[in-house]
Amino acid sequence: MRVTRTIAEYAKLREMARGRVAFVPTMGALHDGHRSLIRLARSLGDLVVVSIFVNPLQFGPDEDYAVYPRPLEVDLDHCAAEGVDIVFVPTVTELYPAGRQVTVSAGALGRAWEGESRPGHFDGVLTVVLKLLNIVAPDVAVFGQKDIQQLACIQRMVVDLNVPVEVVAAPIVRDADGLALSSRNVYLSPAERSLALSLSTALEKAATQTSVPAARAAAYETLERAEDDPAFALDYAALVHPTTFAELPDHYAGPAVFAVAARVGRTRLIDNVSMTVR
Ligand code: AMP
Repeated sequence: MRVTRTIAEYAKLREMARGRVAFVPTMGALHDGHRSLIRLARSLGDLVVVSIFVNPLQFGPDEDYAVYPRPLEVDLDHCAAEGVDIVFVPTVTELYPAGRQVTVSAGALGRAWEGESRPGHFDGVLTVVLKLLNIVAPDVAVFGQKDIQQLACIQRMVVDLNVPVEVVAAPIVRDADGLALSSRNVYLSPAERSLALSLSTALEKAATQTSVPAARAAAYETLERAEDDPAFALDYAALVHPTTFAELPDHYAGPAVFAVAARVGRTRLIDNVSMTVR
């Protein structure tokens, strides 16, 4: 496994690469969710590239950029165990040298839901993802459905800007109790962790319903109970269209995404489930 910190060194490795390159961009603090993406990439390509970069552009001023976990040695062990070929670990100045001006705008999709709570977040995500795709030059890139609106923004960008890459979505990996794996779960106390389960429980209940109103009612019942605890603050719970993220009318039939975000203690968590309503 090669670990490279510069664009120039990566470019030399890329030039020598033969066959399909499969890419998994991450912010590190790798867990089984990331590892499942790497395994999927392994099945899609001859050469697997993982990037580890905590992207300052996608964090708001009051968010956890400074304290975001960065256990690089452990991350490299995870990558080695999954048979990753190249790990690209750029510094902030390598990706954002002084003087840069041009960024990507995620448009209206980037301002809804997550984007409303985190202004500029998806612009920051798309800017770094486009840069990484240009640098890594993969044939296929794998993104998790855990960040479902991010995935939709990336798919939109790839279409709208004619980015020559195949985007593959990977299913959400959860702990045995249902909590979606997240690098931010390490922030949770045991009490907060059990409170956080309201998110996956609400989604599970919604997913067994067959209509828009029934799915909403099922999720809200669980989420309202969680809100009795002052440590739980719901941000949004929305049943939306999987590509536009427009909220669905009661009579809608077709594919849907139930997306939720909440603050549990000081930790902001997101989760979602894909479903079909009639
Ligand atoms: P991050 O390091 O949080 O930026 O995530 C890197 C990639 O891993 C993104 O495509 C995420 O959607 C994906 N990911 C994170 N957590 C999970 C999970 N629990 N299941 C599946 N994919 C995940």
